[in-house]
Amino acid sequence: MGGTKILAAAINSHDGIIARVKKETPSGNEKEKYIRSLADIVEEVTDELRLSESDVKAVCLGVPGSVNPKTGIIGLAPNLRLKNFNIGERLSKLIPYPVLIENDVNLGALGIKKFGVGMNAKNMLVVFIGTGIGGGLIFNEKIYRGSNFVAGEIGHMVVEKNGPLCGCGNRGCIEAVASRTAIVRNIEKDIKSGKKSVLSGFVKNKERIKSRALSKAVNQKDPVAVKRLSEACESIGVMLAGVSNLLNVDMIVLGGGVIEAMGKFMMPMIKKAFKENVMQSSAKGLKIIPSKLGDDAALYGGIPLAEEFLGVIV
Ligand SMILES: [Zn+2]
Repeated sequence: MGGTKILAAAINSHDGIIARVKKETPSGNEKEKYIRSLADIVEEVTDELRLSESDVKAVCLGVPGSVNPKTGIIGLAPNLRLKNFNIGERLSKLIPYPVLIENDVNLGALGIKKFGVGMNAKNMLVVFIGTGIGGGLIFNEKIYRGSNFVAGEIGHMVVEKNGPLCGCGNRGCIEAVASRTAIVRNIEKDIKSGKKSVLSGFVKNKERIKSRALSKAVNQKDPVAVKRLSEACESIGVMLAGVSNLLNVDMIVLGGGVIEAMGKFMMPMIKKAFKENVMQSSAKGLKIIPSKLGDDAALYGGIPLAEEFLGVIV
């Protein structure tokens, strides 16, 4: 579930993803309409594959916000404008399948653990770097949700006192310092102050700089893009070193649009800053690797979620 799009897929543990449908989120602010469009997209996918009711074990929703998977209640999902909302119960009335919900980043971490590069990890941290920064934690092979189901909010660790304002209202969160939004904001600032960059045209035309354009600029060794991305990598590496000292995980998986587009450039710099700041004993045997599942990680996460809550054996 996204603020602008809903992506749905049918997936089984044998063949992986067997059908997918993407839909615009209905406009307006009506919960009923939103739930209706979720039910419709589920129906579209099952119709496409001619699935019968008994073929579908569960419908799993990935929610960009805090959720309680045990009750089906969304605590807060700002992008969906939902608060204290029992989406599980409401959707269950419209479709004949059990409905499960989970935070979208946690779902991604579950997918990476079960089917991705984290398959052999026991304790793992997953960090997605895109327009924001999100995290998921696997401890002893299980997702760690925390006391109020908000564990893993790594994007809102404050790394710069009185730093740039973050979407959460605080200042200096790593998301406000090293997400694509933050990197682009810094690049635009440099260009406006007169620094030369191959990205100047975007600023002049008031066009949004996306990951692909950033990647192109870095490949051309554009000094502004290289400098601002390097700074972000350093902040991320230092932050991960602190988290590693605290949690002593055996794997850190990095994903999200920024890593997908510029992993080759970013991974070595993140690793360097990590190495320079971590306690050697905590980093022993630790691997930092990019996720290979892309957006599909969260889709794959539905399978272990159904396993956990419904005992679906795959
Ligand atoms: Zn924040």
